[in-house]
Amino acid sequence: MSKIILTGDRPTGKLHVGHYVGSLRRRVQLQNSGEYDKIFIMIADAQALTDNADNPEKVRQNIIEVALDYLSCGLDPARSTLLIQSQIPELAELSFYYMNLVTVSRLQRNPTVKAEIQMRNFEASIPVGFFTYPISQAADITAFKATTVPVGDDQLPMIEQCREIVRRFNFIYGDTLVEPEALIPENEACCRLPGTDGKAKMSKSLNNCIYLSDSADQVWDKIRNNMFTDPNHLKVTDPGSLEGNVAFTYLDAFCRDEHFERYLPEYANLDELKGHYQRGGLGDMKVKKFLNAVMQEELEPIRNRRKELAGRIPEVYDILKAGSEKAREEAARTVDEVKAAMKINYFEDENLIREQAEKYAAESV
Ligand code: ATP
Ligand code: MG
Repeated sequence: MSKIILTGDRPTGKLHVGHYVGSLRRRVQLQNSGEYDKIFIMIADAQALTDNADNPEKVRQNIIEVALDYLSCGLDPARSTLLIQSQIPELAELSFYYMNLVTVSRLQRNPTVKAEIQMRNFEASIPVGFFTYPISQAADITAFKATTVPVGDDQLPMIEQCREIVRRFNFIYGDTLVEPEALIPENEACCRLPGTDGKAKMSKSLNNCIYLSDSADQVWDKIRNNMFTDPNHLKVTDPGSLEGNVAFTYLDAFCRDEHFERYLPEYANLDELKGHYQRGGLGDMKVKKFLNAVMQEELEPIRNRRKELAGRIPEVYDILKAGSEKAREEAARTVDEVKAAMKINYFEDENLIREQAEKYAAESV
């Protein structure tokens, strides 16, 4: 069976380092590994509209931001198809059919939907489109017959819901769809990178992000002034705690042993640095300066490519248009198979027409 990747992001803002360590960095590695037959990377504008219906301009403006982030991180349109969700009407068509396979109470129990409803204060007034977005996400994944979905761990319940839909569809209508697997980061810190403020998740909606497009000064400013460490670690000599200490979580996500050689040679690795912090005698500022050096090293080439690409906007739109067209052909093939399996392919089914003609012919004699 072919190995196919589908994943994506909502164009509700520029992408941040949580996206990067949770999914984007992995996608680029998978792309470059050459192990996948097809890779689809989707800008999920229709999904973004489910909770931004009154703010279409926000979604429209952020398409290019997400595309620039993709290309500057190393997604290569020659190897990965970059597409815009709304340009593939087949995805809406599949969602419409999948809706029959999911109950309202199952959607209500989806932990991601629950958490997001709470975060958006939607309790009393959930838009139906938002409530049902796990179904549309299942359409996105299955339209491309994706086997692998690289995501942060907040998305696991979504993938599970998609797998249920696939199983139910295949059970009722016969083997048609492919059950996908989530691919979450092996490094625990990357599964759900916290915000600089220490909140559980770095999220565009929570204003606690370091963006891939931030300047070197902005990154350092956010690390120095906004980053939550150990509030009880007042004097350098005090023992420090790693629990909920965001600076160390980010080091877990970004730092490799070789960074110590370059920027902090008095330690061999992160464990030694952590040990010293816990014993006391290591100041937050030294940790933050090291983190800054490590992050700048990773972010600088991305930032530079982004600047270069920003001078070629029409070309980036051409890439998205070509990718969307290619993706549409793929999705249309799946829709044809789905419709045949569901027995709603009346005009393509010569047997149906012949059999009925014969039935009526037999009755009339
Ligand atoms: P929004 O607030 O609009 O939902 P978001 O910041 O949660 O935005 P999404 O577009 O919903 O971003 O998520 C895109 C991908 O990035 C998903 O695979 C998600 O799991 C991953 N991701 C998002 N935030 C993080 C994070 N803080 N840590 C790890 N992965 C993340
Ligand atoms: Mg999200």
